[in-house]
Amino acid sequence: MRIVIATGNPHKVDEIRAVLAPMGFTVVALPELGRPVPAEPDEPGVTFEENARIKARYYAAALGEAVLADDSGLEVDALQGAPGVHSAYWAGTAGSRAERDARNNAKLVESMRGVPAHRRQARFVCTMCVATPDGAVLVETRGEFEGVISDEPRGGHGFGYDPHLFLPDRGVSSAELPPDEKNEVSHRGRAVRRLAYLITHKRIEW
Ligand code: IMP
Repeated sequence: MRIVIATGNPHKVDEIRAVLAPMGFTVVALPELGRPVPAEPDEPGVTFEENARIKARYYAAALGEAVLADDSGLEVDALQGAPGVHSAYWAGTAGSRAERDARNNAKLVESMRGVPAHRRQARFVCTMCVATPDGAVLVETRGEFEGVISDEPRGGHGFGYDPHLFLPDRGVSSAELPPDEKNEVSHRGRAVRRLAYLITHKRIEW
């Protein structure tokens, strides 16, 4: 079954494809469609679920086929859930993805200054939504990935806030997990496996 994913983030594409391709899905990212694709819509939602729906419906209508969209971010308890839905552009919109990630991480460390070790719980959240061109939502899922915020960045894998999400059980950061290990436990891995399970077992077709 062909599934178009509404993201140009190559890290997300790799993580989603790594789960869906072995299950028989042909995963096509927006830049691979080989035709003009509209710019990303605004994401005015206050929840990850709302934003994933907005993106899935927008691209499904624009492309005339079913689309899988995800929305994700970091929730830090000591920051009352921030950066949350603002994770991608928390420290501003300027620059490349790598530059934004670096500024976001500096802001995270600064915001957590003075927060003691036992109050550093945080999690990545990912919601996924498949919608059709008429606006119908076929399936929605959510995955979470718990850790604690560390001041020191560790690891060279992944993207975004990965170097600062420390996993106490494993003694490593999210960015120290090789891609296949991250997918086994991550918010995105969990959300996409659940999605594939529901599509298969509820016989959802498009
Ligand atoms: P989105 O493209 O609106 O889903 O933005 C998600 C943002 O949340 C990214 O730009 C990252 O800053 C952060 N984020 C989401 N998932 C991850 C992850 O797996 N690792 C690190 N940061 C993530």
